[in-house]
Amino acid sequence: MNQSLPAFIELWQTTLNWQPNPEQLQTFQVLYDQILEGNTQLNLTRITEASDFWEKHLWDSLSGVSQINLDSLQNSCKVIDIGTGAGFPGIPIAISYPDWQVTLLDSTRKKLVFVQQILDKLLLKNAKILVGRAEAIAREKQYRSNYDLATIRAVSNASVCAEYALPFLKVGGTAILYRGQWSDEEDYNLKSALSLLGGEITLVKSFQTPLTQGIRHCVYVQKILKTPEEYPRAIGTPTQQPLG
Ligand code: SAM
Repeated sequence: MNQSLPAFIELWQTTLNWQPNPEQLQTFQVLYDQILEGNTQLNLTRITEASDFWEKHLWDSLSGVSQINLDSLQNSCKVIDIGTGAGFPGIPIAISYPDWQVTLLDSTRKKLVFVQQILDKLLLKNAKILVGRAEAIAREKQYRSNYDLATIRAVSNASVCAEYALPFLKVGGTAILYRGQWSDEEDYNLKSALSLLGGEITLVKSFQTPLTQGIRHCVYVQKILKTPEEYPRAIGTPTQQPLG
C-alpha cells in the first residue's frame, strides 16, 4: 500500500524559505509513489520510508538550489542534472521551478526509461531525459556551453564532478556539487581542477538536514572562463586520473 508523504509545510518555509503549492505537494506524492513502485523492479534507491524520502530526496535536492540568487537567473533557466539516476535532484527542481527547462542526463538507459515514465505520470513538461556519458555528451555542440545551471549529486569525487559539469555551462553559469562531508583536501583538489576548467568556488555551504540533523555541503562553482576543448577528457579518464 502507498505511504503518504508528510507535507511538512512549516519546514519547507522555515528551512528553505519556500512553500510548495497544493498541486506541487500532490506531484511530490505521485513522484514518491512511482519511485516506490519502480524500486520493486529496478534497484533505484535505499531511501523508501516516507520522512526519509522527504528529507534525503526532496529537501536535499531543493536545499542546494535554495541558495542560488534567483534574480541572476532567467525565468527560462536551462538546467542539466548530471548522473540523475532516478531523477535527483533534477525532478524535484523541475517540479519546484516550472519555468526552468531541466535536462536529466544519465549513462544508464534503463534508469532513464523509468524516469521518462515518471515524467509522463507527473505531466511534467519542463523536464526531459538525455542518455549518455557526460564525457561524450559535453563534447556535442548542442549541449556544450549551453546551460545556466548544472547539478550533480552522488556521482563521483568533486574534481570529477567539476570536469563533467563545467563544459556544459555557459560562461557565468553555476554548478552545484552536492556533497556529504567537505574536507580541506577536497577543497584543495577541486580548486586545482577548476584552475584548468575555467571555474572558481563562490560558496561552500553547510546544511543541517531538518529531521535527522545530518550534515551536507553544497559547493557552488561559477564558470568564469571558457573550458578548454580538451575537457572533459575521454570516457573513463576523469575517474581514473582525477584532475587536481
Ligand atoms: N544523482 C542521483 C542521486 O543523487 O540520487 C543518482 C546518483 S547514482 C549513485 C550515480 C548515477 O550517475 C548513476 O545513475 C550513474 O549511471 C550515473 N553516472 C555515473 N557516471 C556517469 C557519467 N560519466 N555520465 C553520465 N552518468 C553517469
